[in-house]
Amino acid sequence: MELVFATNNQHKLKELQAILGNEFHLLSLKDIGCNEEIPEEQETLVGNASQKAFFIYNKYGYNCFADDTGLEIEALNGEPGVYSARYAGEEKSAEANMKKVLDKMAKINRRNARFKTVISLILNGEEHLFEGIVEGKILPEKKGGSGFGYDPIFQPEGFDYSFAEMELSQKNKISHRGRAVQKLVAYLKELA
Ligand code: IMP
Repeated sequence: MELVFATNNQHKLKELQAILGNEFHLLSLKDIGCNEEIPEEQETLVGNASQKAFFIYNKYGYNCFADDTGLEIEALNGEPGVYSARYAGEEKSAEANMKKVLDKMAKINRRNARFKTVISLILNGEEHLFEGIVEGKILPEKKGGSGFGYDPIFQPEGFDYSFAEMELSQKNKISHRGRAVQKLVAYLKELA
């Protein structure tokens, strides 16, 4: 099955292709000639995922899916949440975002946090939503050099190292996005 993944993030494309395998032919935005900025103006993860997926479906006519992810830190009332990419400003710097989190959390012992991903799949005009969550905690300092975003400061439950110290295949098995994608794939395989 041919499906567009509405993203330009090469890290995510790589992660996703590894999970999907050969059964699905994943097309990127570039592959379908879409070079424009996709609107992402909603206040919730579901709202943003849905807006992006419908934008591609309506304008380009492909079956497609889009995701939106947020890091929710309990002691910060769920921040940065839907604002995770631009927590420290519109330049969307992962370093600056992590610094802001580490500074805000410096004196806080309650370090529980979770990553949440929502995927909106538009199949022949009908929307299907999938959610994936990984619980964990915010580390006091950065650890590891792999991955992207907040990976160096997030330690998933049941592990004593950060997402940035994990093999990609291991991260995919337990991550928010991996879990949401597993639900997406299970759904798609039922249709096939
Ligand atoms: P997006 O909706 O997937 O673009 O994610 C929004 C922001 O959340 C990204 O810019 C990253 O800062 C962060 N993020 C998403 N997924 C991950 C991940 O797997 N590890 C670390 N940070 C992530």
